[in-house]
Amino acid sequence: MEQKSKFIGKIRDNPLIALERGNRDVMLTIWREYLTEILELDPKSGRRRLLIQRLEHAGDFDKLYSDWNDLSTQERGDRWLALIRTTKALLAEVKDVCLRCGDCCFQSSPTLTEADMGLFQDNILGWTEVYTLRRGERGVDPRSGAVTPITEERLKIKEHAATKNCLFYATNPSRCLIYEHRPQQCREQLCNRREEELPPPPTAFLTRQAFFGQHPELWALLVAHEERCAIARLEQALELLAANNEDEASETLFDMLHFDHYLRQLLLTEWEIPAGALDFLLGRPLTQLLPQLGLKAEMTANGVFRLERL
Ligand code: SF4
Ligand code: SF4
Repeated sequence: MEQKSKFIGKIRDNPLIALERGNRDVMLTIWREYLTEILELDPKSGRRRLLIQRLEHAGDFDKLYSDWNDLSTQERGDRWLALIRTTKALLAEVKDVCLRCGDCCFQSSPTLTEADMGLFQDNILGWTEVYTLRRGERGVDPRSGAVTPITEERLKIKEHAATKNCLFYATNPSRCLIYEHRPQQCREQLCNRREEELPPPPTAFLTRQAFFGQHPELWALLVAHEERCAIARLEQALELLAANNEDEASETLFDMLHFDHYLRQLLLTEWEIPAGALDFLLGRPLTQLLPQLGLKAEMTANGVFRLERL
């Protein structure tokens, strides 16, 4: 492909005259301005980048750019119009199509709804690939982007360590590994839909009860964990700490930390639950949540926790 450069200088008062008389860099600049007007997408978005690649491929833009300086006025007009027609047709075709740029897959993993239960039954999703966001933890609203404490638990696909990238997003080449079976939220939150074009937000979310509610012994353990290690209890302990009531705060925190730790051990050894599934059954360990709240908890060689402020 030839090196393309943006035209520097006065381009046009009338774009048709500029196209008629200008060289290929004038044409390129007018093309880029036209794309900016028609696409209405964030200049940095992956969807915009992929769309422009597709539009230029469909309209044979490289050939047009290469030929431009040698074209007659008539030929320039015909070829430009053909490019615009192809562009409009392709844009109409992909209006409601995900181009798989991955931008939304980097922002957060999807929250699962009841409609996604079949993905577990079909072995598309497994226990080790999801985790529970417990009541009171902070969650991101996929539509508004607001981060707020959640009032009911949610199940989410895991994210790659220390990132917000969905576990199922792979690079080189960029792709969703379960695209044909992606969860409801991924299918519905098509990025270029306007607010009024989106379906109503889902209300029937998947919870752990749908998986474990029919197993009384195991369910009783999960309920006991939810009560004893509740996020609300953790926050109360932190309030006591902030009020310098260290003894009472420490007693609560140690109780929670030990219960959380030893229940995980019990599920591993007695119930033979895979280690990777514990964040699904019990949510993330308290030791992982505490640093966000300014505390660090470490298990010592004596089998008890040591707490320190960060
Ligand atoms: S829905 Fe997501 S992956 Fe698909 S084009 Fe939009 S941002 Fe890219
Ligand atoms: S499941 Fe697929 S489409 Fe949905 S966020 Fe993950 S990688 Fe993206």
